[in-house]
Order: sequence, then C-alpha cells, then structure tokens
Amino acid sequence: MRTSSNDQCSKRKSDFEKDSKKQGDSCFSRDESGKLYVIGIGPGDIEQMSLKAYRLLQEVEVIAGYKTYINLINEIIDDQQTTYSTGMKKENERALKAIEFVRQGKDVAVISSGDPGIYGMAGLVLELLEKKDIETKPEIIPGITAGNAAAASLGAPLMHDYVVISLSDLLTPWSVIEKRLHKAGEGDFVVVLYNPSSKKRKNQIIQAREILLKYKKSATPVGIVRNAKRGQEEIKNSNLEDMLDNKIDMLTTVIIGNSKTKNYNDLMITPRGYKL
Ligand code: SAH
Repeated sequence: MRTSSNDQCSKRKSDFEKDSKKQGDSCFSRDESGKLYVIGIGPGDIEQMSLKAYRLLQEVEVIAGYKTYINLINEIIDDQQTTYSTGMKKENERALKAIEFVRQGKDVAVISSGDPGIYGMAGLVLELLEKKDIETKPEIIPGITAGNAAAASLGAPLMHDYVVISLSDLLTPWSVIEKRLHKAGEGDFVVVLYNPSSKKRKNQIIQAREILLKYKKSATPVGIVRNAKRGQEEIKNSNLEDMLDNKIDMLTTVIIGNSKTKNYNDLMITPRGYKL
C-alpha cells in the first residue's frame, strides 16, 4: 500500500526519465483530485499491451480490476501500489471505488482485458460519472481486443467487413442478439462471437450456429481460439457444421467466415479482393 504518494511520484518520475525519457502525466500534474485512466491490458500477455498502458500501470497509485486481470499483470505491479479487485459481476462496485480513490487525490487505473471500450469497463465508468455528475474526465487507453488477437492467431479472417456479437444475454435480451445474428448472416459478414458459452449459458452458441446456417454454408470456415495471445493458447480450425465439437467457453472467441473465407495451411483467409 502506498502511503506517501508524492515521494513515490518523484521516485517514479526519475525511474521513468531514466528508463524511457518519457515523463508520465499522472504524477506531475497533481491537483486536488487524481487522474483516472481506463486501461486495456490486451489479451493477457504483457508483451501484447501498448507501451502507454505498460507505463501508466507502473505509474498509478491504485489499480482496480477483476482479480483474474490483476493476476495477468502482476509482474509489473509493485508492492507500493494498491490493488482493488472484486469478482465477476461486481463491476459497478469496482468502478465506484475507483472514482472514490480519484476524488481522494490518487491516480487510478481501472483495467479491462482486451480493449476497455469493447464489452469492458470504459462505458460503465463514463455512465457512472455522468449519473453522479462528476466532472472527472478519464483517459481511455485502448488495447488489443480478443477478436483481433484471435484473428491474428487464425491468419487473416477479418480482411473484409465483420461484426462482433456478444452471446451473453445477461445484460442484453436474447431477442436482440438473435436479430443481430440474422442481420449478420443476411449481410454475409464475417462474424466474431464474444462470450460464446459459459457454465450456465450453453444454449446460445447452439442457437447462434443454427441461425447462421440459414445464411451460410455448412462448410464455412470457423476459427476457435481459447486464450488468444496468452499462455495456453488453443487454436482450432473447423467449419459451421462441426464447430460445436470443439471446446467453446468464456475464454474462447469464435470467428465465422463469410462466403469467400477459405483455409490454407491451417490458416483462415478472407480475401479482400486483390487481383493476384
Ligand atoms: N474487453 C474484452 C472483451 C470482454 S468480453 C476485449 O476487448 O477483448 C469477454 C469475452 O472476450 C470472453 O468471453 C471471450 O469471448 C473474449 N476473450 C477475452 N480475452 C480472450 C482471449 N485471450 N482469448 C480468447 N477470447 C478472449
């Protein structure tokens, strides 16, 4: 736990000037309230995060995030930083606590896996600030989102228009998700599925496949990536017919091709249309 934040700031300032010749903005512009960052840590491997995220995560005094994500970045957190973690479904509590720390004058990072603005914490933080009429303006630091990480591991499936659909109906009615799946199929989009299946939600991926089969051929290539771009990554090439034979859970992103998507050498390619 950091007690004397100004001392720590000067220590950190010299470290960063020495290491990167880049001054952090958090420690040097202190007024009464602290600075709030919402930071995308990328898919989970430190090397896949932006340099800015990497720098800020070492500069801030408090890091708030879901336990699993704090663990993913543990190696760059030091014991003078305060971490505030809560479990799943406690996002409100976490964001409010982070805002409270900022109002106490601390520089705070709220972290999300991937990109914080894609099913992450950025929107929630902004909504809470609006609701409570707090003028703090957070800085949002983007990260590599799961769909992009999975796509890179699969080859080049997102070379043409694509849509991202979350199959979680915890916050979105299933009827809305179904409608979007139909539209994505009808439009021949490449479809990236987030939150495809969990212990309690097994049926959504089955229904999503059935809807897409109304528009896409059963041979349409499907890429399934678990733990994309982090330890224990698993990459599977399948098709719309057989995709459900693979393990698909909350650590998985599924990419379903368009009518032109093909496989070559276990890689997915969605042609852009170049003449070769
Ligand atoms: N903000 C995150 C998405 C959060 S939604 C981002 O931009 O990536 C959570 C879902 O993202 C998971 O259920 C899974 O579908 C996907 N996901 C997150 N990290 C992943 C990873 N490393 N590999 C595969 N899928 C991942």
